[in-house]
This record gives sequence, structure tokens and C-alpha cells, in this order.
Amino acid sequence: MKVVVVVGGVGGARFLLGVKAALGLPPVGEGESPHQVTAIVNTGDDVWMHGLRVCPDLDTCMYTLGGGIDPDRGWGHAGETWTVKAELQAYGAEPTWFSLGDKDIATHLVRTRMLRAGYPLSAVTEALCDRWRPGARLLPMADDRVETHVVVDDPDVPGQRKALHFQEWWVRYRASLRAHSIVPVGAEEATPAPGVLEAIAEADAVLFAPSNPVVSVGTVLSVPGVREALRKTEAGIVGVSPIIGGRPLRGMADACLTAIGVDTSAEAVGRLYGSRHTSEEGLLDGWLVHEGESVDVPGVAVRAVPLLMSGVDATVKMALAALDLSGVDVD
Ligand code: GDP
Ligand code: CA
Repeated sequence: MKVVVVVGGVGGARFLLGVKAALGLPPVGEGESPHQVTAIVNTGDDVWMHGLRVCPDLDTCMYTLGGGIDPDRGWGHAGETWTVKAELQAYGAEPTWFSLGDKDIATHLVRTRMLRAGYPLSAVTEALCDRWRPGARLLPMADDRVETHVVVDDPDVPGQRKALHFQEWWVRYRASLRAHSIVPVGAEEATPAPGVLEAIAEADAVLFAPSNPVVSVGTVLSVPGVREALRKTEAGIVGVSPIIGGRPLRGMADACLTAIGVDTSAEAVGRLYGSRHTSEEGLLDGWLVHEGESVDVPGVAVRAVPLLMSGVDATVKMALAALDLSGVDVD
């Protein structure tokens, strides 16, 4: 069975652990299974920092599935040290609001060197995964540079607006500056990375991880051709709500939803993705919401199950429910 999962960073990576285990693969690392998991990963968070190309969501997925993630932070390496960061700070090297750990920097050095030598991001990711062996295929949504920007009121110039890189808005300002709009800059000219459209076309099931609907899943969907491929695939498409009880679990996804005029509720996010059958642009056949919530998304089969990824066992149950709702038979 071929399962495609559209993911961002922490929420996506944790969900992938459950999808792998649901298919009989070890959640971390490689193993024997006739089944195959392909993740289509958001790259709109990617950013140049101190001359290095940083791909936060790809790295979170790679480290999580490869067994190198810091389990408490949910991003970066376990056992990380911060010597380079302190040295950069001593030089007054901007920006100081973005933390790069020493071990993490090695990843970015290898990536940057390969990109500079002309390799596309998809090939670079494959090379990095040679070390991490995530046991799932990690495909960047696109090889082209796409960077999410957020239009805010300029905190320094009253009455003026400015666009910040998503990372600056999210990490430096903790999404506290009201967003007027969120734009995946470069998406219009981007093409899906090699393998993305093929994976969607050949999939037996497509799942949307409980990732940020705007700046993770939404950004992947903004790459021309992805939405069309999803609407055409014979696979059932099921989304998992990142919103429980009207709130995101971690992070500030509510600020992103507000920016695009969508309520922070499982129902509103389900309607944002929409039905593949009863709407022109919609994508879903099924929508998983948290137990006890009653949600109506026209044209979409809604099922309520526990959606807290409190551990791999709980996440496996979520993944199995999503696969079942998509119409495939896993045993
Ligand atoms: P990021 O790129 O690191 O921000 O991660 P993602 O976009 O992949 O995921 C972020 C989303 O994951 C947030 O909007 C959270 O609401 C959601 N999330 C985190 N933990 C859980 C969980 O246990 N259950 C569900 N349903 N959603 C979760
Ligand atoms: Ca992210």
C-alpha cells in the first residue's frame, strides 16, 4: 500500500510516526514492510540564516523519523549544544532571534554546500536521509525557493505595513503582530518537486497530517499542480484536524487562521479544505475531528476519534482511523 501524507513540522512528523507504525513499519528508522509512506513536506518556512539554508519542516521530519529529534522541544537535535550561537551573539551577528544548534548547523552546512554545487533540494534531502534513514520518503513540496511572508503593521513605523519572513513573525514576534495576509512568495512560479505528483497519482490513500492548515498544508497546496493532482487521484483523501476544542494544540495556528478569515475550529478548517465532491476546489473525502466534537462539512464524511498524539500508540490509532476512513483496508 502506498500512503502519501501532506505535512509540516512537529505535528506532521509526529503523525508520520503513527502512520509508519500503522503500516507495520517501526515508527523510528527503517524496517521491512510491503507498505510505503511518502511525505510531501512544506518548505515555505525555509530561510537563509548566516549564509546557511535552513529547512525547518524537512529537518523536523527527518530527525523525528530518524531518531535524532529533541523530544521535549520537538525540533532540533537531542543533546544539542549552542557554542556557535553564543559566538555569533558575541559578534553581534544578526539575526539573534533564530537559534541554530551546533549539530543542526552540520546539517545546514551539508545542505548549503550541495545546493551551491547545483543539486536540487529534493536530491539534497535524499542525501541527508541517507544518514538519517527515516523509513519514509521525504519529498520537499518543490525544489524552487518558496518562502512564506506575513504582512503586518510595521512595529517601527506607525501607519505603515511591511512583509516579514514567516520565521521572523513566528519565532521573533511569536505571531503577536496581527497578520493582514500570509503569502507563499514564489509559489506561483514553483513546480512540484520530482516525485510529488507521481506519488499523489499512485497513492492508495492520501492523508493531511494535523499540521498548520495555513502555513504547512496550505503552503503545499499553493504549489501549482498539487491541488489538481489531489482532486484527480483515485486515492481517498482524509484530513486530520489540528484544532481540538477550538484551539490549536501547540503553537499559534489560530493567528494564521484569523489572518485568512477562517475560524479556529475543526469545522472551519474542514470547510477550508472542502469536499472533493460537492465543491469546485475542495479536496477531502473524509475529515477526522476529536472525539466528542460534532462537526458538519458538506460533502465530507466526518468521524470523531481521539486526536491527541500523546504517544505513538495513540497516534497509530489516529492513523488507522484516517486510513480506514479513506477506504483502504489495513490489517
Ligand atoms: P510546525 O511546522 O512545527 O508548526 O508543525 P505542523 O504544521 O506540522 O503542526 C502544527 C500543528 O500541529 C498545530 O497547529 C497543532 O494544533 C497541531 N498538533 C500538535 N500536536 C497535536 C496533537 O497531539 N493532536 C492534533 N490533532 N494536532 C496537534
Ligand atoms: Ca513549519
